[in-house]
Amino acid sequence: MIYDLHSHTTTSDGSLTPVELITRADVRQVGVLAITDHDTVDGLAEAQKEITDKNLKLQLVNGVEISTKWHGFEIHIVGLCIDPNDDVLQSCLDTQLHHREIRAQAMSDKLAKKGFEDVYKDAREMAIGKCVSRTHFAKVLLQRGIVSNFDAAFKKYLGKGKSAYVSPNWMDIETAVKIIHRAGGIAIIAHPIRYDMSNKWLAKLVDEFAEHGGDALEVGLTQISPNQRTHISGLANKYDLYSSQGSDFHAPARWTDLGKSLYLTEQCKPVWQHPKWRFAS
Ligand code: AMP
Ligand code: MN
Ligand code: MN
Ligand code: MN
Repeated sequence: MIYDLHSHTTTSDGSLTPVELITRADVRQVGVLAITDHDTVDGLAEAQKEITDKNLKLQLVNGVEISTKWHGFEIHIVGLCIDPNDDVLQSCLDTQLHHREIRAQAMSDKLAKKGFEDVYKDAREMAIGKCVSRTHFAKVLLQRGIVSNFDAAFKKYLGKGKSAYVSPNWMDIETAVKIIHRAGGIAIIAHPIRYDMSNKWLAKLVDEFAEHGGDALEVGLTQISPNQRTHISGLANKYDLYSSQGSDFHAPARWTDLGKSLYLTEQCKPVWQHPKWRFAS
């Protein structure tokens, strides 16, 4: 059974609609798919409807990827098996989306000072859902020929500490864990190897996360080296955390796809064995 527990749709910064994502997952023989859009649960109902309408074998897990701030780092916390209708979750996500808009305007102002006008306006038009992300900004900069490739937009303007970077007012990790738990879900540190932090900081992050009642670490990623895998699963074991796996799929690409190269080693406790594990319907 292929589990892919981290993916995005056009509801946030993915390039496939919820229906297109479900179709692709089914074709690729994914058995269990979690949709985890940034700070929104808006795509989940449409995805489940497609599964039901087409009577697919694929099972959906209701998810979300919440942006949090921790000591100047932006840490992403995935919530799985959440109730998307939980009122506190919904109002906290609305607040996050509001902070996204404030940040987007501030990034746009910084870019305007460099002579690139109205980037937010174009990014807003490009975004299909409520969530405007730096991905949309990078695509606008690329379309206008301001950068020559997508990554360069982050390296030059949008990445942490770069000239158009604005530190966002995300919720803290403790709050994210609390609202995920309140919504009946399981809280997971997303892609722990991608925060550009020392092992010492990473250990501190996992320690605090566990202290706040966090449940799991993402250990199975499409691109993770054997050393990194050993390190992260070691941390999961040390704190008695479950392990998750996911492609973090945003768009069809050469090096990553739904369900591609995802596995957990025997020393890991799979997150789907967590007592709170449940499917969307
Ligand atoms: P945001 O949630 O608005 O901060 O945007 C972050 C999103 O940008 C991530 O979820 C990725 O999909 C995308 N991204 C692509 N390259 C980078 C990068 N170098 N640094 C941060 N985000 C990136
Ligand atoms: Mn993203
Ligand atoms: Mn992420
Ligand atoms: Mn993601």
